[in-house]
Parts: sequence; C-alpha cells; structure tokens
Amino acid sequence: MDERDSQAEQEFQDQELQALVQHAALHSPFYRELYRNKASEIQTAADLTQLPVITEMLFEQRIQEIRTQAQRKKEASTIHAAAGLSLPQLTNLDIQKQTAAIDHFRKQNGAINLEMKRATIYNGDFVPQTQTQGVFWRDIYYLNQRLYSAQHCREPFIEQVVRNLNEFRPDFIDGLPSAILTLSRFINDHRIILTFQPAAVFVETDILSETERLEIESAFGCMVRRWSMASDRSPFLYECASGNLHFNMRTGVLEFAECGKVLLTRFHTRGTPLIRLEIRDRLLPVSCPCVCGSAHPVVRRPAVPESEYLQSKSRGKVTSLYLATLQEKFREMAPAMQFVQNSLDEILIWIDGNAPLPFDSEQQIRQEMIQVFGADMRFTVRSREVKQMDLAESSGLIINNLNLNKRICPKECGME
Ligand SMILES: [Zn+2]
Repeated sequence: MDERDSQAEQEFQDQELQALVQHAALHSPFYRELYRNKASEIQTAADLTQLPVITEMLFEQRIQEIRTQAQRKKEASTIHAAAGLSLPQLTNLDIQKQTAAIDHFRKQNGAINLEMKRATIYNGDFVPQTQTQGVFWRDIYYLNQRLYSAQHCREPFIEQVVRNLNEFRPDFIDGLPSAILTLSRFINDHRIILTFQPAAVFVETDILSETERLEIESAFGCMVRRWSMASDRSPFLYECASGNLHFNMRTGVLEFAECGKVLLTRFHTRGTPLIRLEIRDRLLPVSCPCVCGSAHPVVRRPAVPESEYLQSKSRGKVTSLYLATLQEKFREMAPAMQFVQNSLDEILIWIDGNAPLPFDSEQQIRQEMIQVFGADMRFTVRSREVKQMDLAESSGLIINNLNLNKRICPKECGME
C-alpha cells in the first residue's frame, strides 16, 4: 500500500465506494428507497454527485431505517434520544477496518502496534478517580500496552506516572492530548531526562499550537503526529511527515462544498452506511500537492478568528487543546460546544443542540471546568439551536474577549 501511487489509491477508493453504495442499496431500507436503481451507476468518487446529500437532521430522523437489516435486528433497543446524536452502529468488520487504518498510520511513523511497547494516556475509569495511592496504570499484556490514567496526570500523582513511564520505556506514546501536554510540561519544567526515546507521540486532535507541539517534542525527544477521527461521523485526518493534515482516502470520500462545508462518505460503516452526509466539521481543500508525495488530499480548517487560550483566575492560561479535549469527552451528549470568556470571573459554555441539556449533564460539564480552571470562577452552561449558529460570527471552539480593546492584526487572529 503506497500512498504516493495516486492511481492505485484512486482505484482502491472507487472499489470500496462501489461496495458500500451497493451494500447500502441492498441492505438498508432507507438507501434502497432513496437510490432506487442509481446504486449500480456509482463507479467512481466523481459519480457520487448523482446521489442526494443527506443532512445531519435527516440522518438523525431516519437512522433506524438507515441501519442495515442485520444491525437493526441485533441492536434495535439501543437507540438513545439524548440531546446529542444517535450513535451509528457498526459491524465487527467495520471496527476492525477502522482500527487497521489507524494502525497503518502509526506504522508509517515507525510505531508497530502489538510488536512494540505502547503507552496510552487514557481517559477512562479503569483507575478510580478517587484513588490517591498505588498504581495509576494497568497493563494489557496481549496488546503490549500500558494504559495510564489521564486523571492522574496531575499533581500530586504526576511524578509517579513519569517515573513509571521511565521504567516502562515505551516505544511509542498515544492518547489524550491535554494529558500528554501536562506530562510534557512536567518533564520539561523539572528537567527530567527520560531513559527512553519513543518513535513518535501520537495525539488525537487536529489542533495543536506550535508551542504545545514544541513542549511535547522537547519532552520526549521525538516527533508529534496528530490524527483525528473525533466521532463516528468524522473523517479520518492524519498529519504527514511534512506537517500537513491529509484526509485518508482509503477510509472514505470527502467532497468539498461552499463555505468549508463537507460531505463525508465513510467506508467502514456497513452497519449504518454513511454516504454523502453533510457533517458539522468544516474543512477546506488545499490545492497544492504535499511534498510528502501522498495522493491523499490535504485539508485545512477554515481560518476563523480563534483565540488560543482562556484565562483561569488562579491557574493562568488554559489553551484550546484542553477545551477541545473537554468537548471530546462530552461529544455524545453535546455534539458541539463553544467557550466564551468576557470576564476573568466567568466562562460561558454554549451547547449546540436541538434540546437543552439535562441538569445532570450540565453539572458534569461544570465539574470538569472546575477541575481545569479552579473553583474560584463561575461556569454558565447555555443551549442554543444549531440553526441559529452563524458560521462567520460564532464559529470557533473558544472566544476570548478579555483583550477586546487590544488591537490585533488579522494575521494574529488566524485570518489570511
Ligand atoms: Zn503530506
């Protein structure tokens, strides 16, 4: 599999596309009705324009009929009507193929899953949050992987975590970007010399400021590689050796529409076929080819004024990476969030959804904010309907209005 062979990559993409569209037309009542006899005419990615676009609202409303028959029988009872979005159900093969795509990306960066020792900074309950002693990690022997509790990558436990990393000597590191950044800061601030040098550190985000990248790279003495597949409705994006973000065309087709809107067709979704879905992510194509030689399209986020950080009253700057991580954590209940700071005392959290969040969920978000920013600030959670969102005015994960009076040049705002 050579990503520089554009013809082979295109052929592979076309074959997968034909298979998915035909599978959908055959096994999903929704697509059967929608495509009628058009499915067989779809031979290449360019032919996709013959098929209708699916909006997220339509996808949400008809998700039961979109699911293929086998999947509908198996999991008919697991639909949840939270403020967020229903989860597309996947077959085991879908999941295996997605995992294989991620493994392949890591392998291209020198990290071979299962064969090499992997340290994953993981945000889960495998170590109770209240635990203050003992070990803050767990081994999964058959995967050659040690999971470190992301919740314990902070004082006073962080030193113990770093000491254990030094004993474990992983060949590569991956996981939660904000926790990896915290570890890196600790290592750099305390001038700790690590006894190992990983092949790469993989961070699951498509945003990372240059200072954050430098912090991680100087702590671990290796390259950082970003990748993201934030949700079941997101494209698989990965960073190449030249530092550009590519869309992995072996995992789907990305069509670019106006204003950064994109239509996603995702191959490994046999359980709930995802074809020409207008997703919430905004991406723009980059027309010049990447020097890495890959045939996979280069993309970038639309340049919108986005602040790099919010200010904690007692803990200094909190970069957008932390907020992005928080957003990821709540993605199921609140698919899109925005953090606005107008004063040092308060942060306003906007939730985009069709219904207000339950009080419990709001409380959970507030608790997380307190963990990051401290208890000496106010956190207000408010909901707004997605259709009220105006891209030009209100996009961006965080908006810092603390320095509104300070004149900044467009370049500093990230506008071009
Ligand atoms: Zn590249």
